[in-house]
Amino acid sequence: MNEFSIIDRYFNWHQSSVVVGIGDDCAVIDNDPDKQTVTSVDTLIGGVHFTSDTSPADIAYKSLAVNLSDIAAMGATPSHFTLAITLPHFDESWVSEFSQGLKEAARKYSVSLVGGDTTRGPLSITINVFGVINKGDSILRSGAMKGDLIFVSKTLGDAAYAWSQIQSNEKPSISLTESLNRPEPRIALGQRLVGIANSCIDISDGLEQDLSHILQSSKVGAIIDINKLPLSEPVRDYISNTGDWCVALAGGDDYELCFSVNKANKDKIRSIERELNIPLTEIGRVTTGGGLIVNGFSGECKSYSHF
Ligand SMILES: [Mg+2]
Repeated sequence: MNEFSIIDRYFNWHQSSVVVGIGDDCAVIDNDPDKQTVTSVDTLIGGVHFTSDTSPADIAYKSLAVNLSDIAAMGATPSHFTLAITLPHFDESWVSEFSQGLKEAARKYSVSLVGGDTTRGPLSITINVFGVINKGDSILRSGAMKGDLIFVSKTLGDAAYAWSQIQSNEKPSISLTESLNRPEPRIALGQRLVGIANSCIDISDGLEQDLSHILQSSKVGAIIDINKLPLSEPVRDYISNTGDWCVALAGGDDYELCFSVNKANKDKIRSIERELNIPLTEIGRVTTGGGLIVNGFSGECKSYSHF
């Protein structure tokens, strides 16, 4: 199969909202004058971001989900994406399963594939995602204010714990495996936080590192309480057995949202929590400066770093 027949067979889905999709030099997408486009790109590499026994459907699903998570962190609505995929060789069943996983995530989050590139080489997947938001509504990292309460969604450390179990040849539970392979971008939550949260980030490299990005951009500090971090039961058990808080603080791959809100908005957060049925846990507050202080934790975690 050549590049064009691969595209035609596996990646040329029909979209209705697109003026020109796959099959021309560029995609053409209609613009609304009152809206802004948000965009983000991420690359996932075989052996770095997933193991050799991760299913192609999971690889595809996660590749799209982690990109959508960045759109969620802005409070925007994802609309389109492009895919650049490099394959070591053409394996029909692999590409077919990959296409199915990608389609599943695309349907679930209502985004259209509008273009891309297919090349040969070591396995790598680059997705560039686009979203829309009303002018000026994006929730930035730079908006945290002294006195803000800091919240995180759902639980931390599940994916990192699953990954560490796989590395030591243990089999993670179904729900932990799901957290690792099929993260759920918090799109509805991000949208509901527009006008309520002062700052927001999605946790991809670990709470410690990602919250620090908010603090640096906002020129503020923060105090969080280690005992307030929301944990699933297996991660809680693992930490109480090993004392390894780093799995939740710096493990990464959570794709939960970390955001700050004025105290006056606390009730609104509680009603969003009920409405969306996603636990939102207050873990600390924003201070004037001095970086991030983690009360109850004296160790040091090795944060994920690409280099
Ligand atoms: Mg991000």
